[in-house]
Amino acid sequence: MRNVSILGSTGSIGRQALEIVRRNPDRLSVCALAASTNIVLLEEQIREFAPALVCVFDEKKAKELAENIKDLKTKVVTAMDGLIECACTEPADTVLVSVVGMIGVRPVIEAIKAGKDIALANKESLVTAGHIIMPLVKEKGVKLLPVDSEHSAIFQCLRGEESSKIEKILLTASGGPFRGKTAKELETMTAADALKHPNWSMGSKITIDSSTLVNKGLEVCEVKWLFDVDPDNIEVVVQPQSILHSAVQFSDGAIIGQMGIPDMKLPIQFALLYPERCDLSDKRVDLFELKSIYFEKPDTETFRALPLAYRALRQGGNMPTVYNAANEEAVAAFLKGGISFGTITDSIEDAMSKIGFIPDPSLEAILETEKETRAFVRDRNR
Ligand code: MG
Repeated sequence: MRNVSILGSTGSIGRQALEIVRRNPDRLSVCALAASTNIVLLEEQIREFAPALVCVFDEKKAKELAENIKDLKTKVVTAMDGLIECACTEPADTVLVSVVGMIGVRPVIEAIKAGKDIALANKESLVTAGHIIMPLVKEKGVKLLPVDSEHSAIFQCLRGEESSKIEKILLTASGGPFRGKTAKELETMTAADALKHPNWSMGSKITIDSSTLVNKGLEVCEVKWLFDVDPDNIEVVVQPQSILHSAVQFSDGAIIGQMGIPDMKLPIQFALLYPERCDLSDKRVDLFELKSIYFEKPDTETFRALPLAYRALRQGGNMPTVYNAANEEAVAAFLKGGISFGTITDSIEDAMSKIGFIPDPSLEAILETEKETRAFVRDRNR
């Protein structure tokens, strides 16, 4: 039996992870859950999965929940300390980190220090602190299992292969809801337009990131850290049907890819039950129905956030943090209708040229850069 702590249990990944637990009652059990504010759904999850510990990030909501579940033995904690308590809780074997944003960085680091295996769905932790996390993973001898569909695909392609034989990572992208649009057309796009993703159903922040290609930019950064690949050897390939989830090209020219329907349950289950490949009785790709899949180069002139991510990754230091924090701040403003679509990428570009460069930032310096960048973007877009 593997005990799982789920940080971000009411979000899209968290809910699907609990579905995997539900389907594998003799393999998986839940020892901790953490959510931001949705205490109605969290209470349902607590009553079904009976975790010993839960965190509600919002302190007021945490009090409210504690009151509502007085009849249970579950302990309720709150804020960053509470989130870290859930990440390090003694019974947990695996911590699924599916919170959105840089809020995930500290819990990831603390969980690794506590010797937990990590199922990582939070992009920001590796993007901003990969240089701290990867050596720590090695030192503590824990597993870092990617949950993102592309990284899970690459991870699956590399089973039994030597990473020294990787020639190139072919990181696939759907191209997002605005693929094929011109920069002029993008000017008038609203949050509602961006939230209509053609293939994947995801949370709102990641769906916007998918429409700007920031999401792919963050994934390029993650590939570098997860698989120790130079940015020059990471190629983004647009595959609009989202059937090929990524591929690896090896030094003998062989390309091995992983295909499947666009459904996060597979990568979530693969990470939670690794190294076992367990049954999943959902839909299959029907190759005869599909007939063909096709590939395109990404339009990096219109979607400048992608080349900007490569620039941030090559610069290294705190630059990926600047890239990410500027995006987080700008996307929040865009979702509230405060700025235009194009302003998201402009904010990132501006922040990258204005915020001071730190070559090898500590965790404190990363969090400081985050604050500084957010303030800069807020000010810029006021
Ligand atoms: Mg992805």
